[in-house]
Amino acid sequence: MAAEIIDGAAIARGIRSEIAQSIRDLGSRSSITPGLVAVLVGNDPASAIYVRNKRLACDEVGIFSTTIELPSSISQIELMEQLIGLNQDDRFHGILVQLPLPSHLDQRLIIETIAPDKDVDSLHPINVGRLADGQSTFLPGTPAGIQQLLLRSGFDPAGQHVVICGRSNIVGKPLAMLLVQKTYGGNATVTVCHTATRGLPEITKGADILVSAVGSPNTITPDMVSSDTVVIDVGINRIPDPSKKRGYRLVGDVDFEGVSEIVKAITPVPGGVGPMTIATLLGNTLKGAEIAAGRMGGIPTT
Ligand code: NAP
Repeated sequence: MAAEIIDGAAIARGIRSEIAQSIRDLGSRSSITPGLVAVLVGNDPASAIYVRNKRLACDEVGIFSTTIELPSSISQIELMEQLIGLNQDDRFHGILVQLPLPSHLDQRLIIETIAPDKDVDSLHPINVGRLADGQSTFLPGTPAGIQQLLLRSGFDPAGQHVVICGRSNIVGKPLAMLLVQKTYGGNATVTVCHTATRGLPEITKGADILVSAVGSPNTITPDMVSSDTVVIDVGINRIPDPSKKRGYRLVGDVDFEGVSEIVKAITPVPGGVGPMTIATLLGNTLKGAEIAAGRMGGIPTT
């Protein structure tokens, strides 16, 4: 039996419309327009596309956004100075540094330069710590997007065995931390797998919810799933496709054709997790603006 397709694009559309309404509400009780600045270093075409998509989503919901484009030759100090300036710029409630950065820049140090209350990607160690503590200001983009995807498609993680393939700082680890919290959207029993995991197919077969964030096509095959599994495919991989004008197409980590014949539900790539990640970013920028409004006592300033 073919699996239910979890339509991340439609769910994200619904979230964007809720955010747009909240932004209108915020505007009616303060003069604040949420603002997001994206910092793009170098000319990696994929990064430029990601930033452009985020800005288009900002426009749609009423977030003021701008991109600061910097040469790949920028020094560590110069980039840090830019960020220190943005930390103090009241127009922006969120700062996003598009990763990866050129290799001469210390990514960790750059992230730590962003003020934690503007770190809408939730990568600053203070925000990582708050997540572990169950006291998040900003939720991590892709993990929170996955959590919403599950909740809004009727697959509450509570009490479920969630198996996550991948332990990166942006997906695997924060997702595990989010889903294990004793709160709504959490209460899952989480197993995190990686390249040193032994007997991966046996572990994934036992999953109620299987999340793959590995970054390699066809990693999850039909022998690794069961008919009760809900599969969330985070991977975004380019594979050559001469039939496409651009010469490639995007696929996830999962053998979609084979696995979707077996499992209960599955997300497509594209149109699954990707739009949800952007929705979280918008929600975090709104939250930053609401915090700023709260600091001003919620008193209309115009
Ligand atoms: P990453 O930093 O490269 O981490 C990959 C993780 O997968 C590592 O922990 C690695 O284990 C593990 N892994 C690799 N091969 C494996 C295998 N055969 N079995 C089990 N584990 C394996 O990747 P990432 O940044 O988390 O991204 C993962 C994928 O998600 C990429 O395709 C990326 O483009 C995509 N992504 C999508 C979104 C979205 O919004 N849709 C957002 C973020 C990322 P080790 O730690 O042992 O090396």
